Amino acid sequence: MPAAIIDGKAVAAEIRARVREEAVRLKTTHGLVPGLAVVLVGEDPASQVYVRNKGRQTREAGMESIEHRLPAETSEADLLTLIARLNADPGVHGILVQLPLPDGVRAEAVIDAIDPAKDVDGFHAVNVGRLVTGQSALVPCTPLGCLDLLRRTLGSLAGAEAVVVGRSTIVGKPMAQLLLRESATVTIAHSRTRDLAAVCRRADILVAAVGRPEMLGRDHVRQGATVIDVGINRVSDGSGGERLVGDVDFAAVSEIAGAITPVPGGVGPMTIACLLSNTLRACCRVNGVPEPEGLPS
Ligand code: NDP
Repeated sequence: MPAAIIDGKAVAAEIRARVREEAVRLKTTHGLVPGLAVVLVGEDPASQVYVRNKGRQTREAGMESIEHRLPAETSEADLLTLIARLNADPGVHGILVQLPLPDGVRAEAVIDAIDPAKDVDGFHAVNVGRLVTGQSALVPCTPLGCLDLLRRTLGSLAGAEAVVVGRSTIVGKPMAQLLLRESATVTIAHSRTRDLAAVCRRADILVAAVGRPEMLGRDHVRQGATVIDVGINRVSDGSGGERLVGDVDFAAVSEIAGAITPVPGGVGPMTIACLLSNTLRACCRVNGVPEPEGLPS
């Protein structure tokens, strides 16, 4: 039987609608409007598209979008000055610096400078540490979105064999932490893993965050496994254009998996939905307002 398709686009729309409802409630009952500041340095075309989408969806969710577009020559010192200003601004509840940053600007220094209470990307060492130690944290948006899809698909993840391929700070490591938090048995695979296919075939839950087009195929997937494809890769469409593919060979794997996310329309839309949810959460926390139920956490 072909795999069930996990419709991240529909789930993300549901989450955004819920965020909007809560944003309206915050405004009417507490006079608060969550504000998300997005900082883009340079002209990277993919980043420009992401920032535009984030701004539009933030406004549609009833929140304020504050965009700072800075030239590629911006110095680290100038960027840190802007971050300090945003940290001090009570109308800004979330700060996101779009990565990658141009050469000469250290992403670690910039992330370190963000107030952890406004770190809606969940990349600050304080939030990373809080996640690892089981305290309430702002959790990175992409793995949070993956977890939400897994919970909706499988219910409890306790005891499941989970394999995460990729160990980046943005996706792989926090994904593994979240799965561990859910009491899955977690393996993290990476470029030095021996016999990757055999490791992946152990998985009830396989999360691919590698950045290599369609690398995981039929040999990597156990019959009936749930497959979450984080990859976003642009490849030639054979007629001069481009198409998006994931890290999983969707056509082959969807014949044997139990459920699978498509690319596009799987994990991608969940990332922005979780960003909006994190911004709402950050606004509630800093203002001592109870956090809404039913949003990814
Ligand atoms: P990174 O390049 O930071 O990390 C890739 C990871 O894959 C590394 O840990 C690397 O191992 C591992 N890897 C590379 N080659 C192999 C291999 N042959 N076998 C096993 N492991 C391998 O990527 P990201 O985590 O930032 O992103 C991963 C993918 O997810 C990309 O396609 C990216 O575009 C996408 N993405 C999608 C998002 C979304 O919203 N849907 C958000 C963020 C990312 P090692 O550490 O040993 O080098």
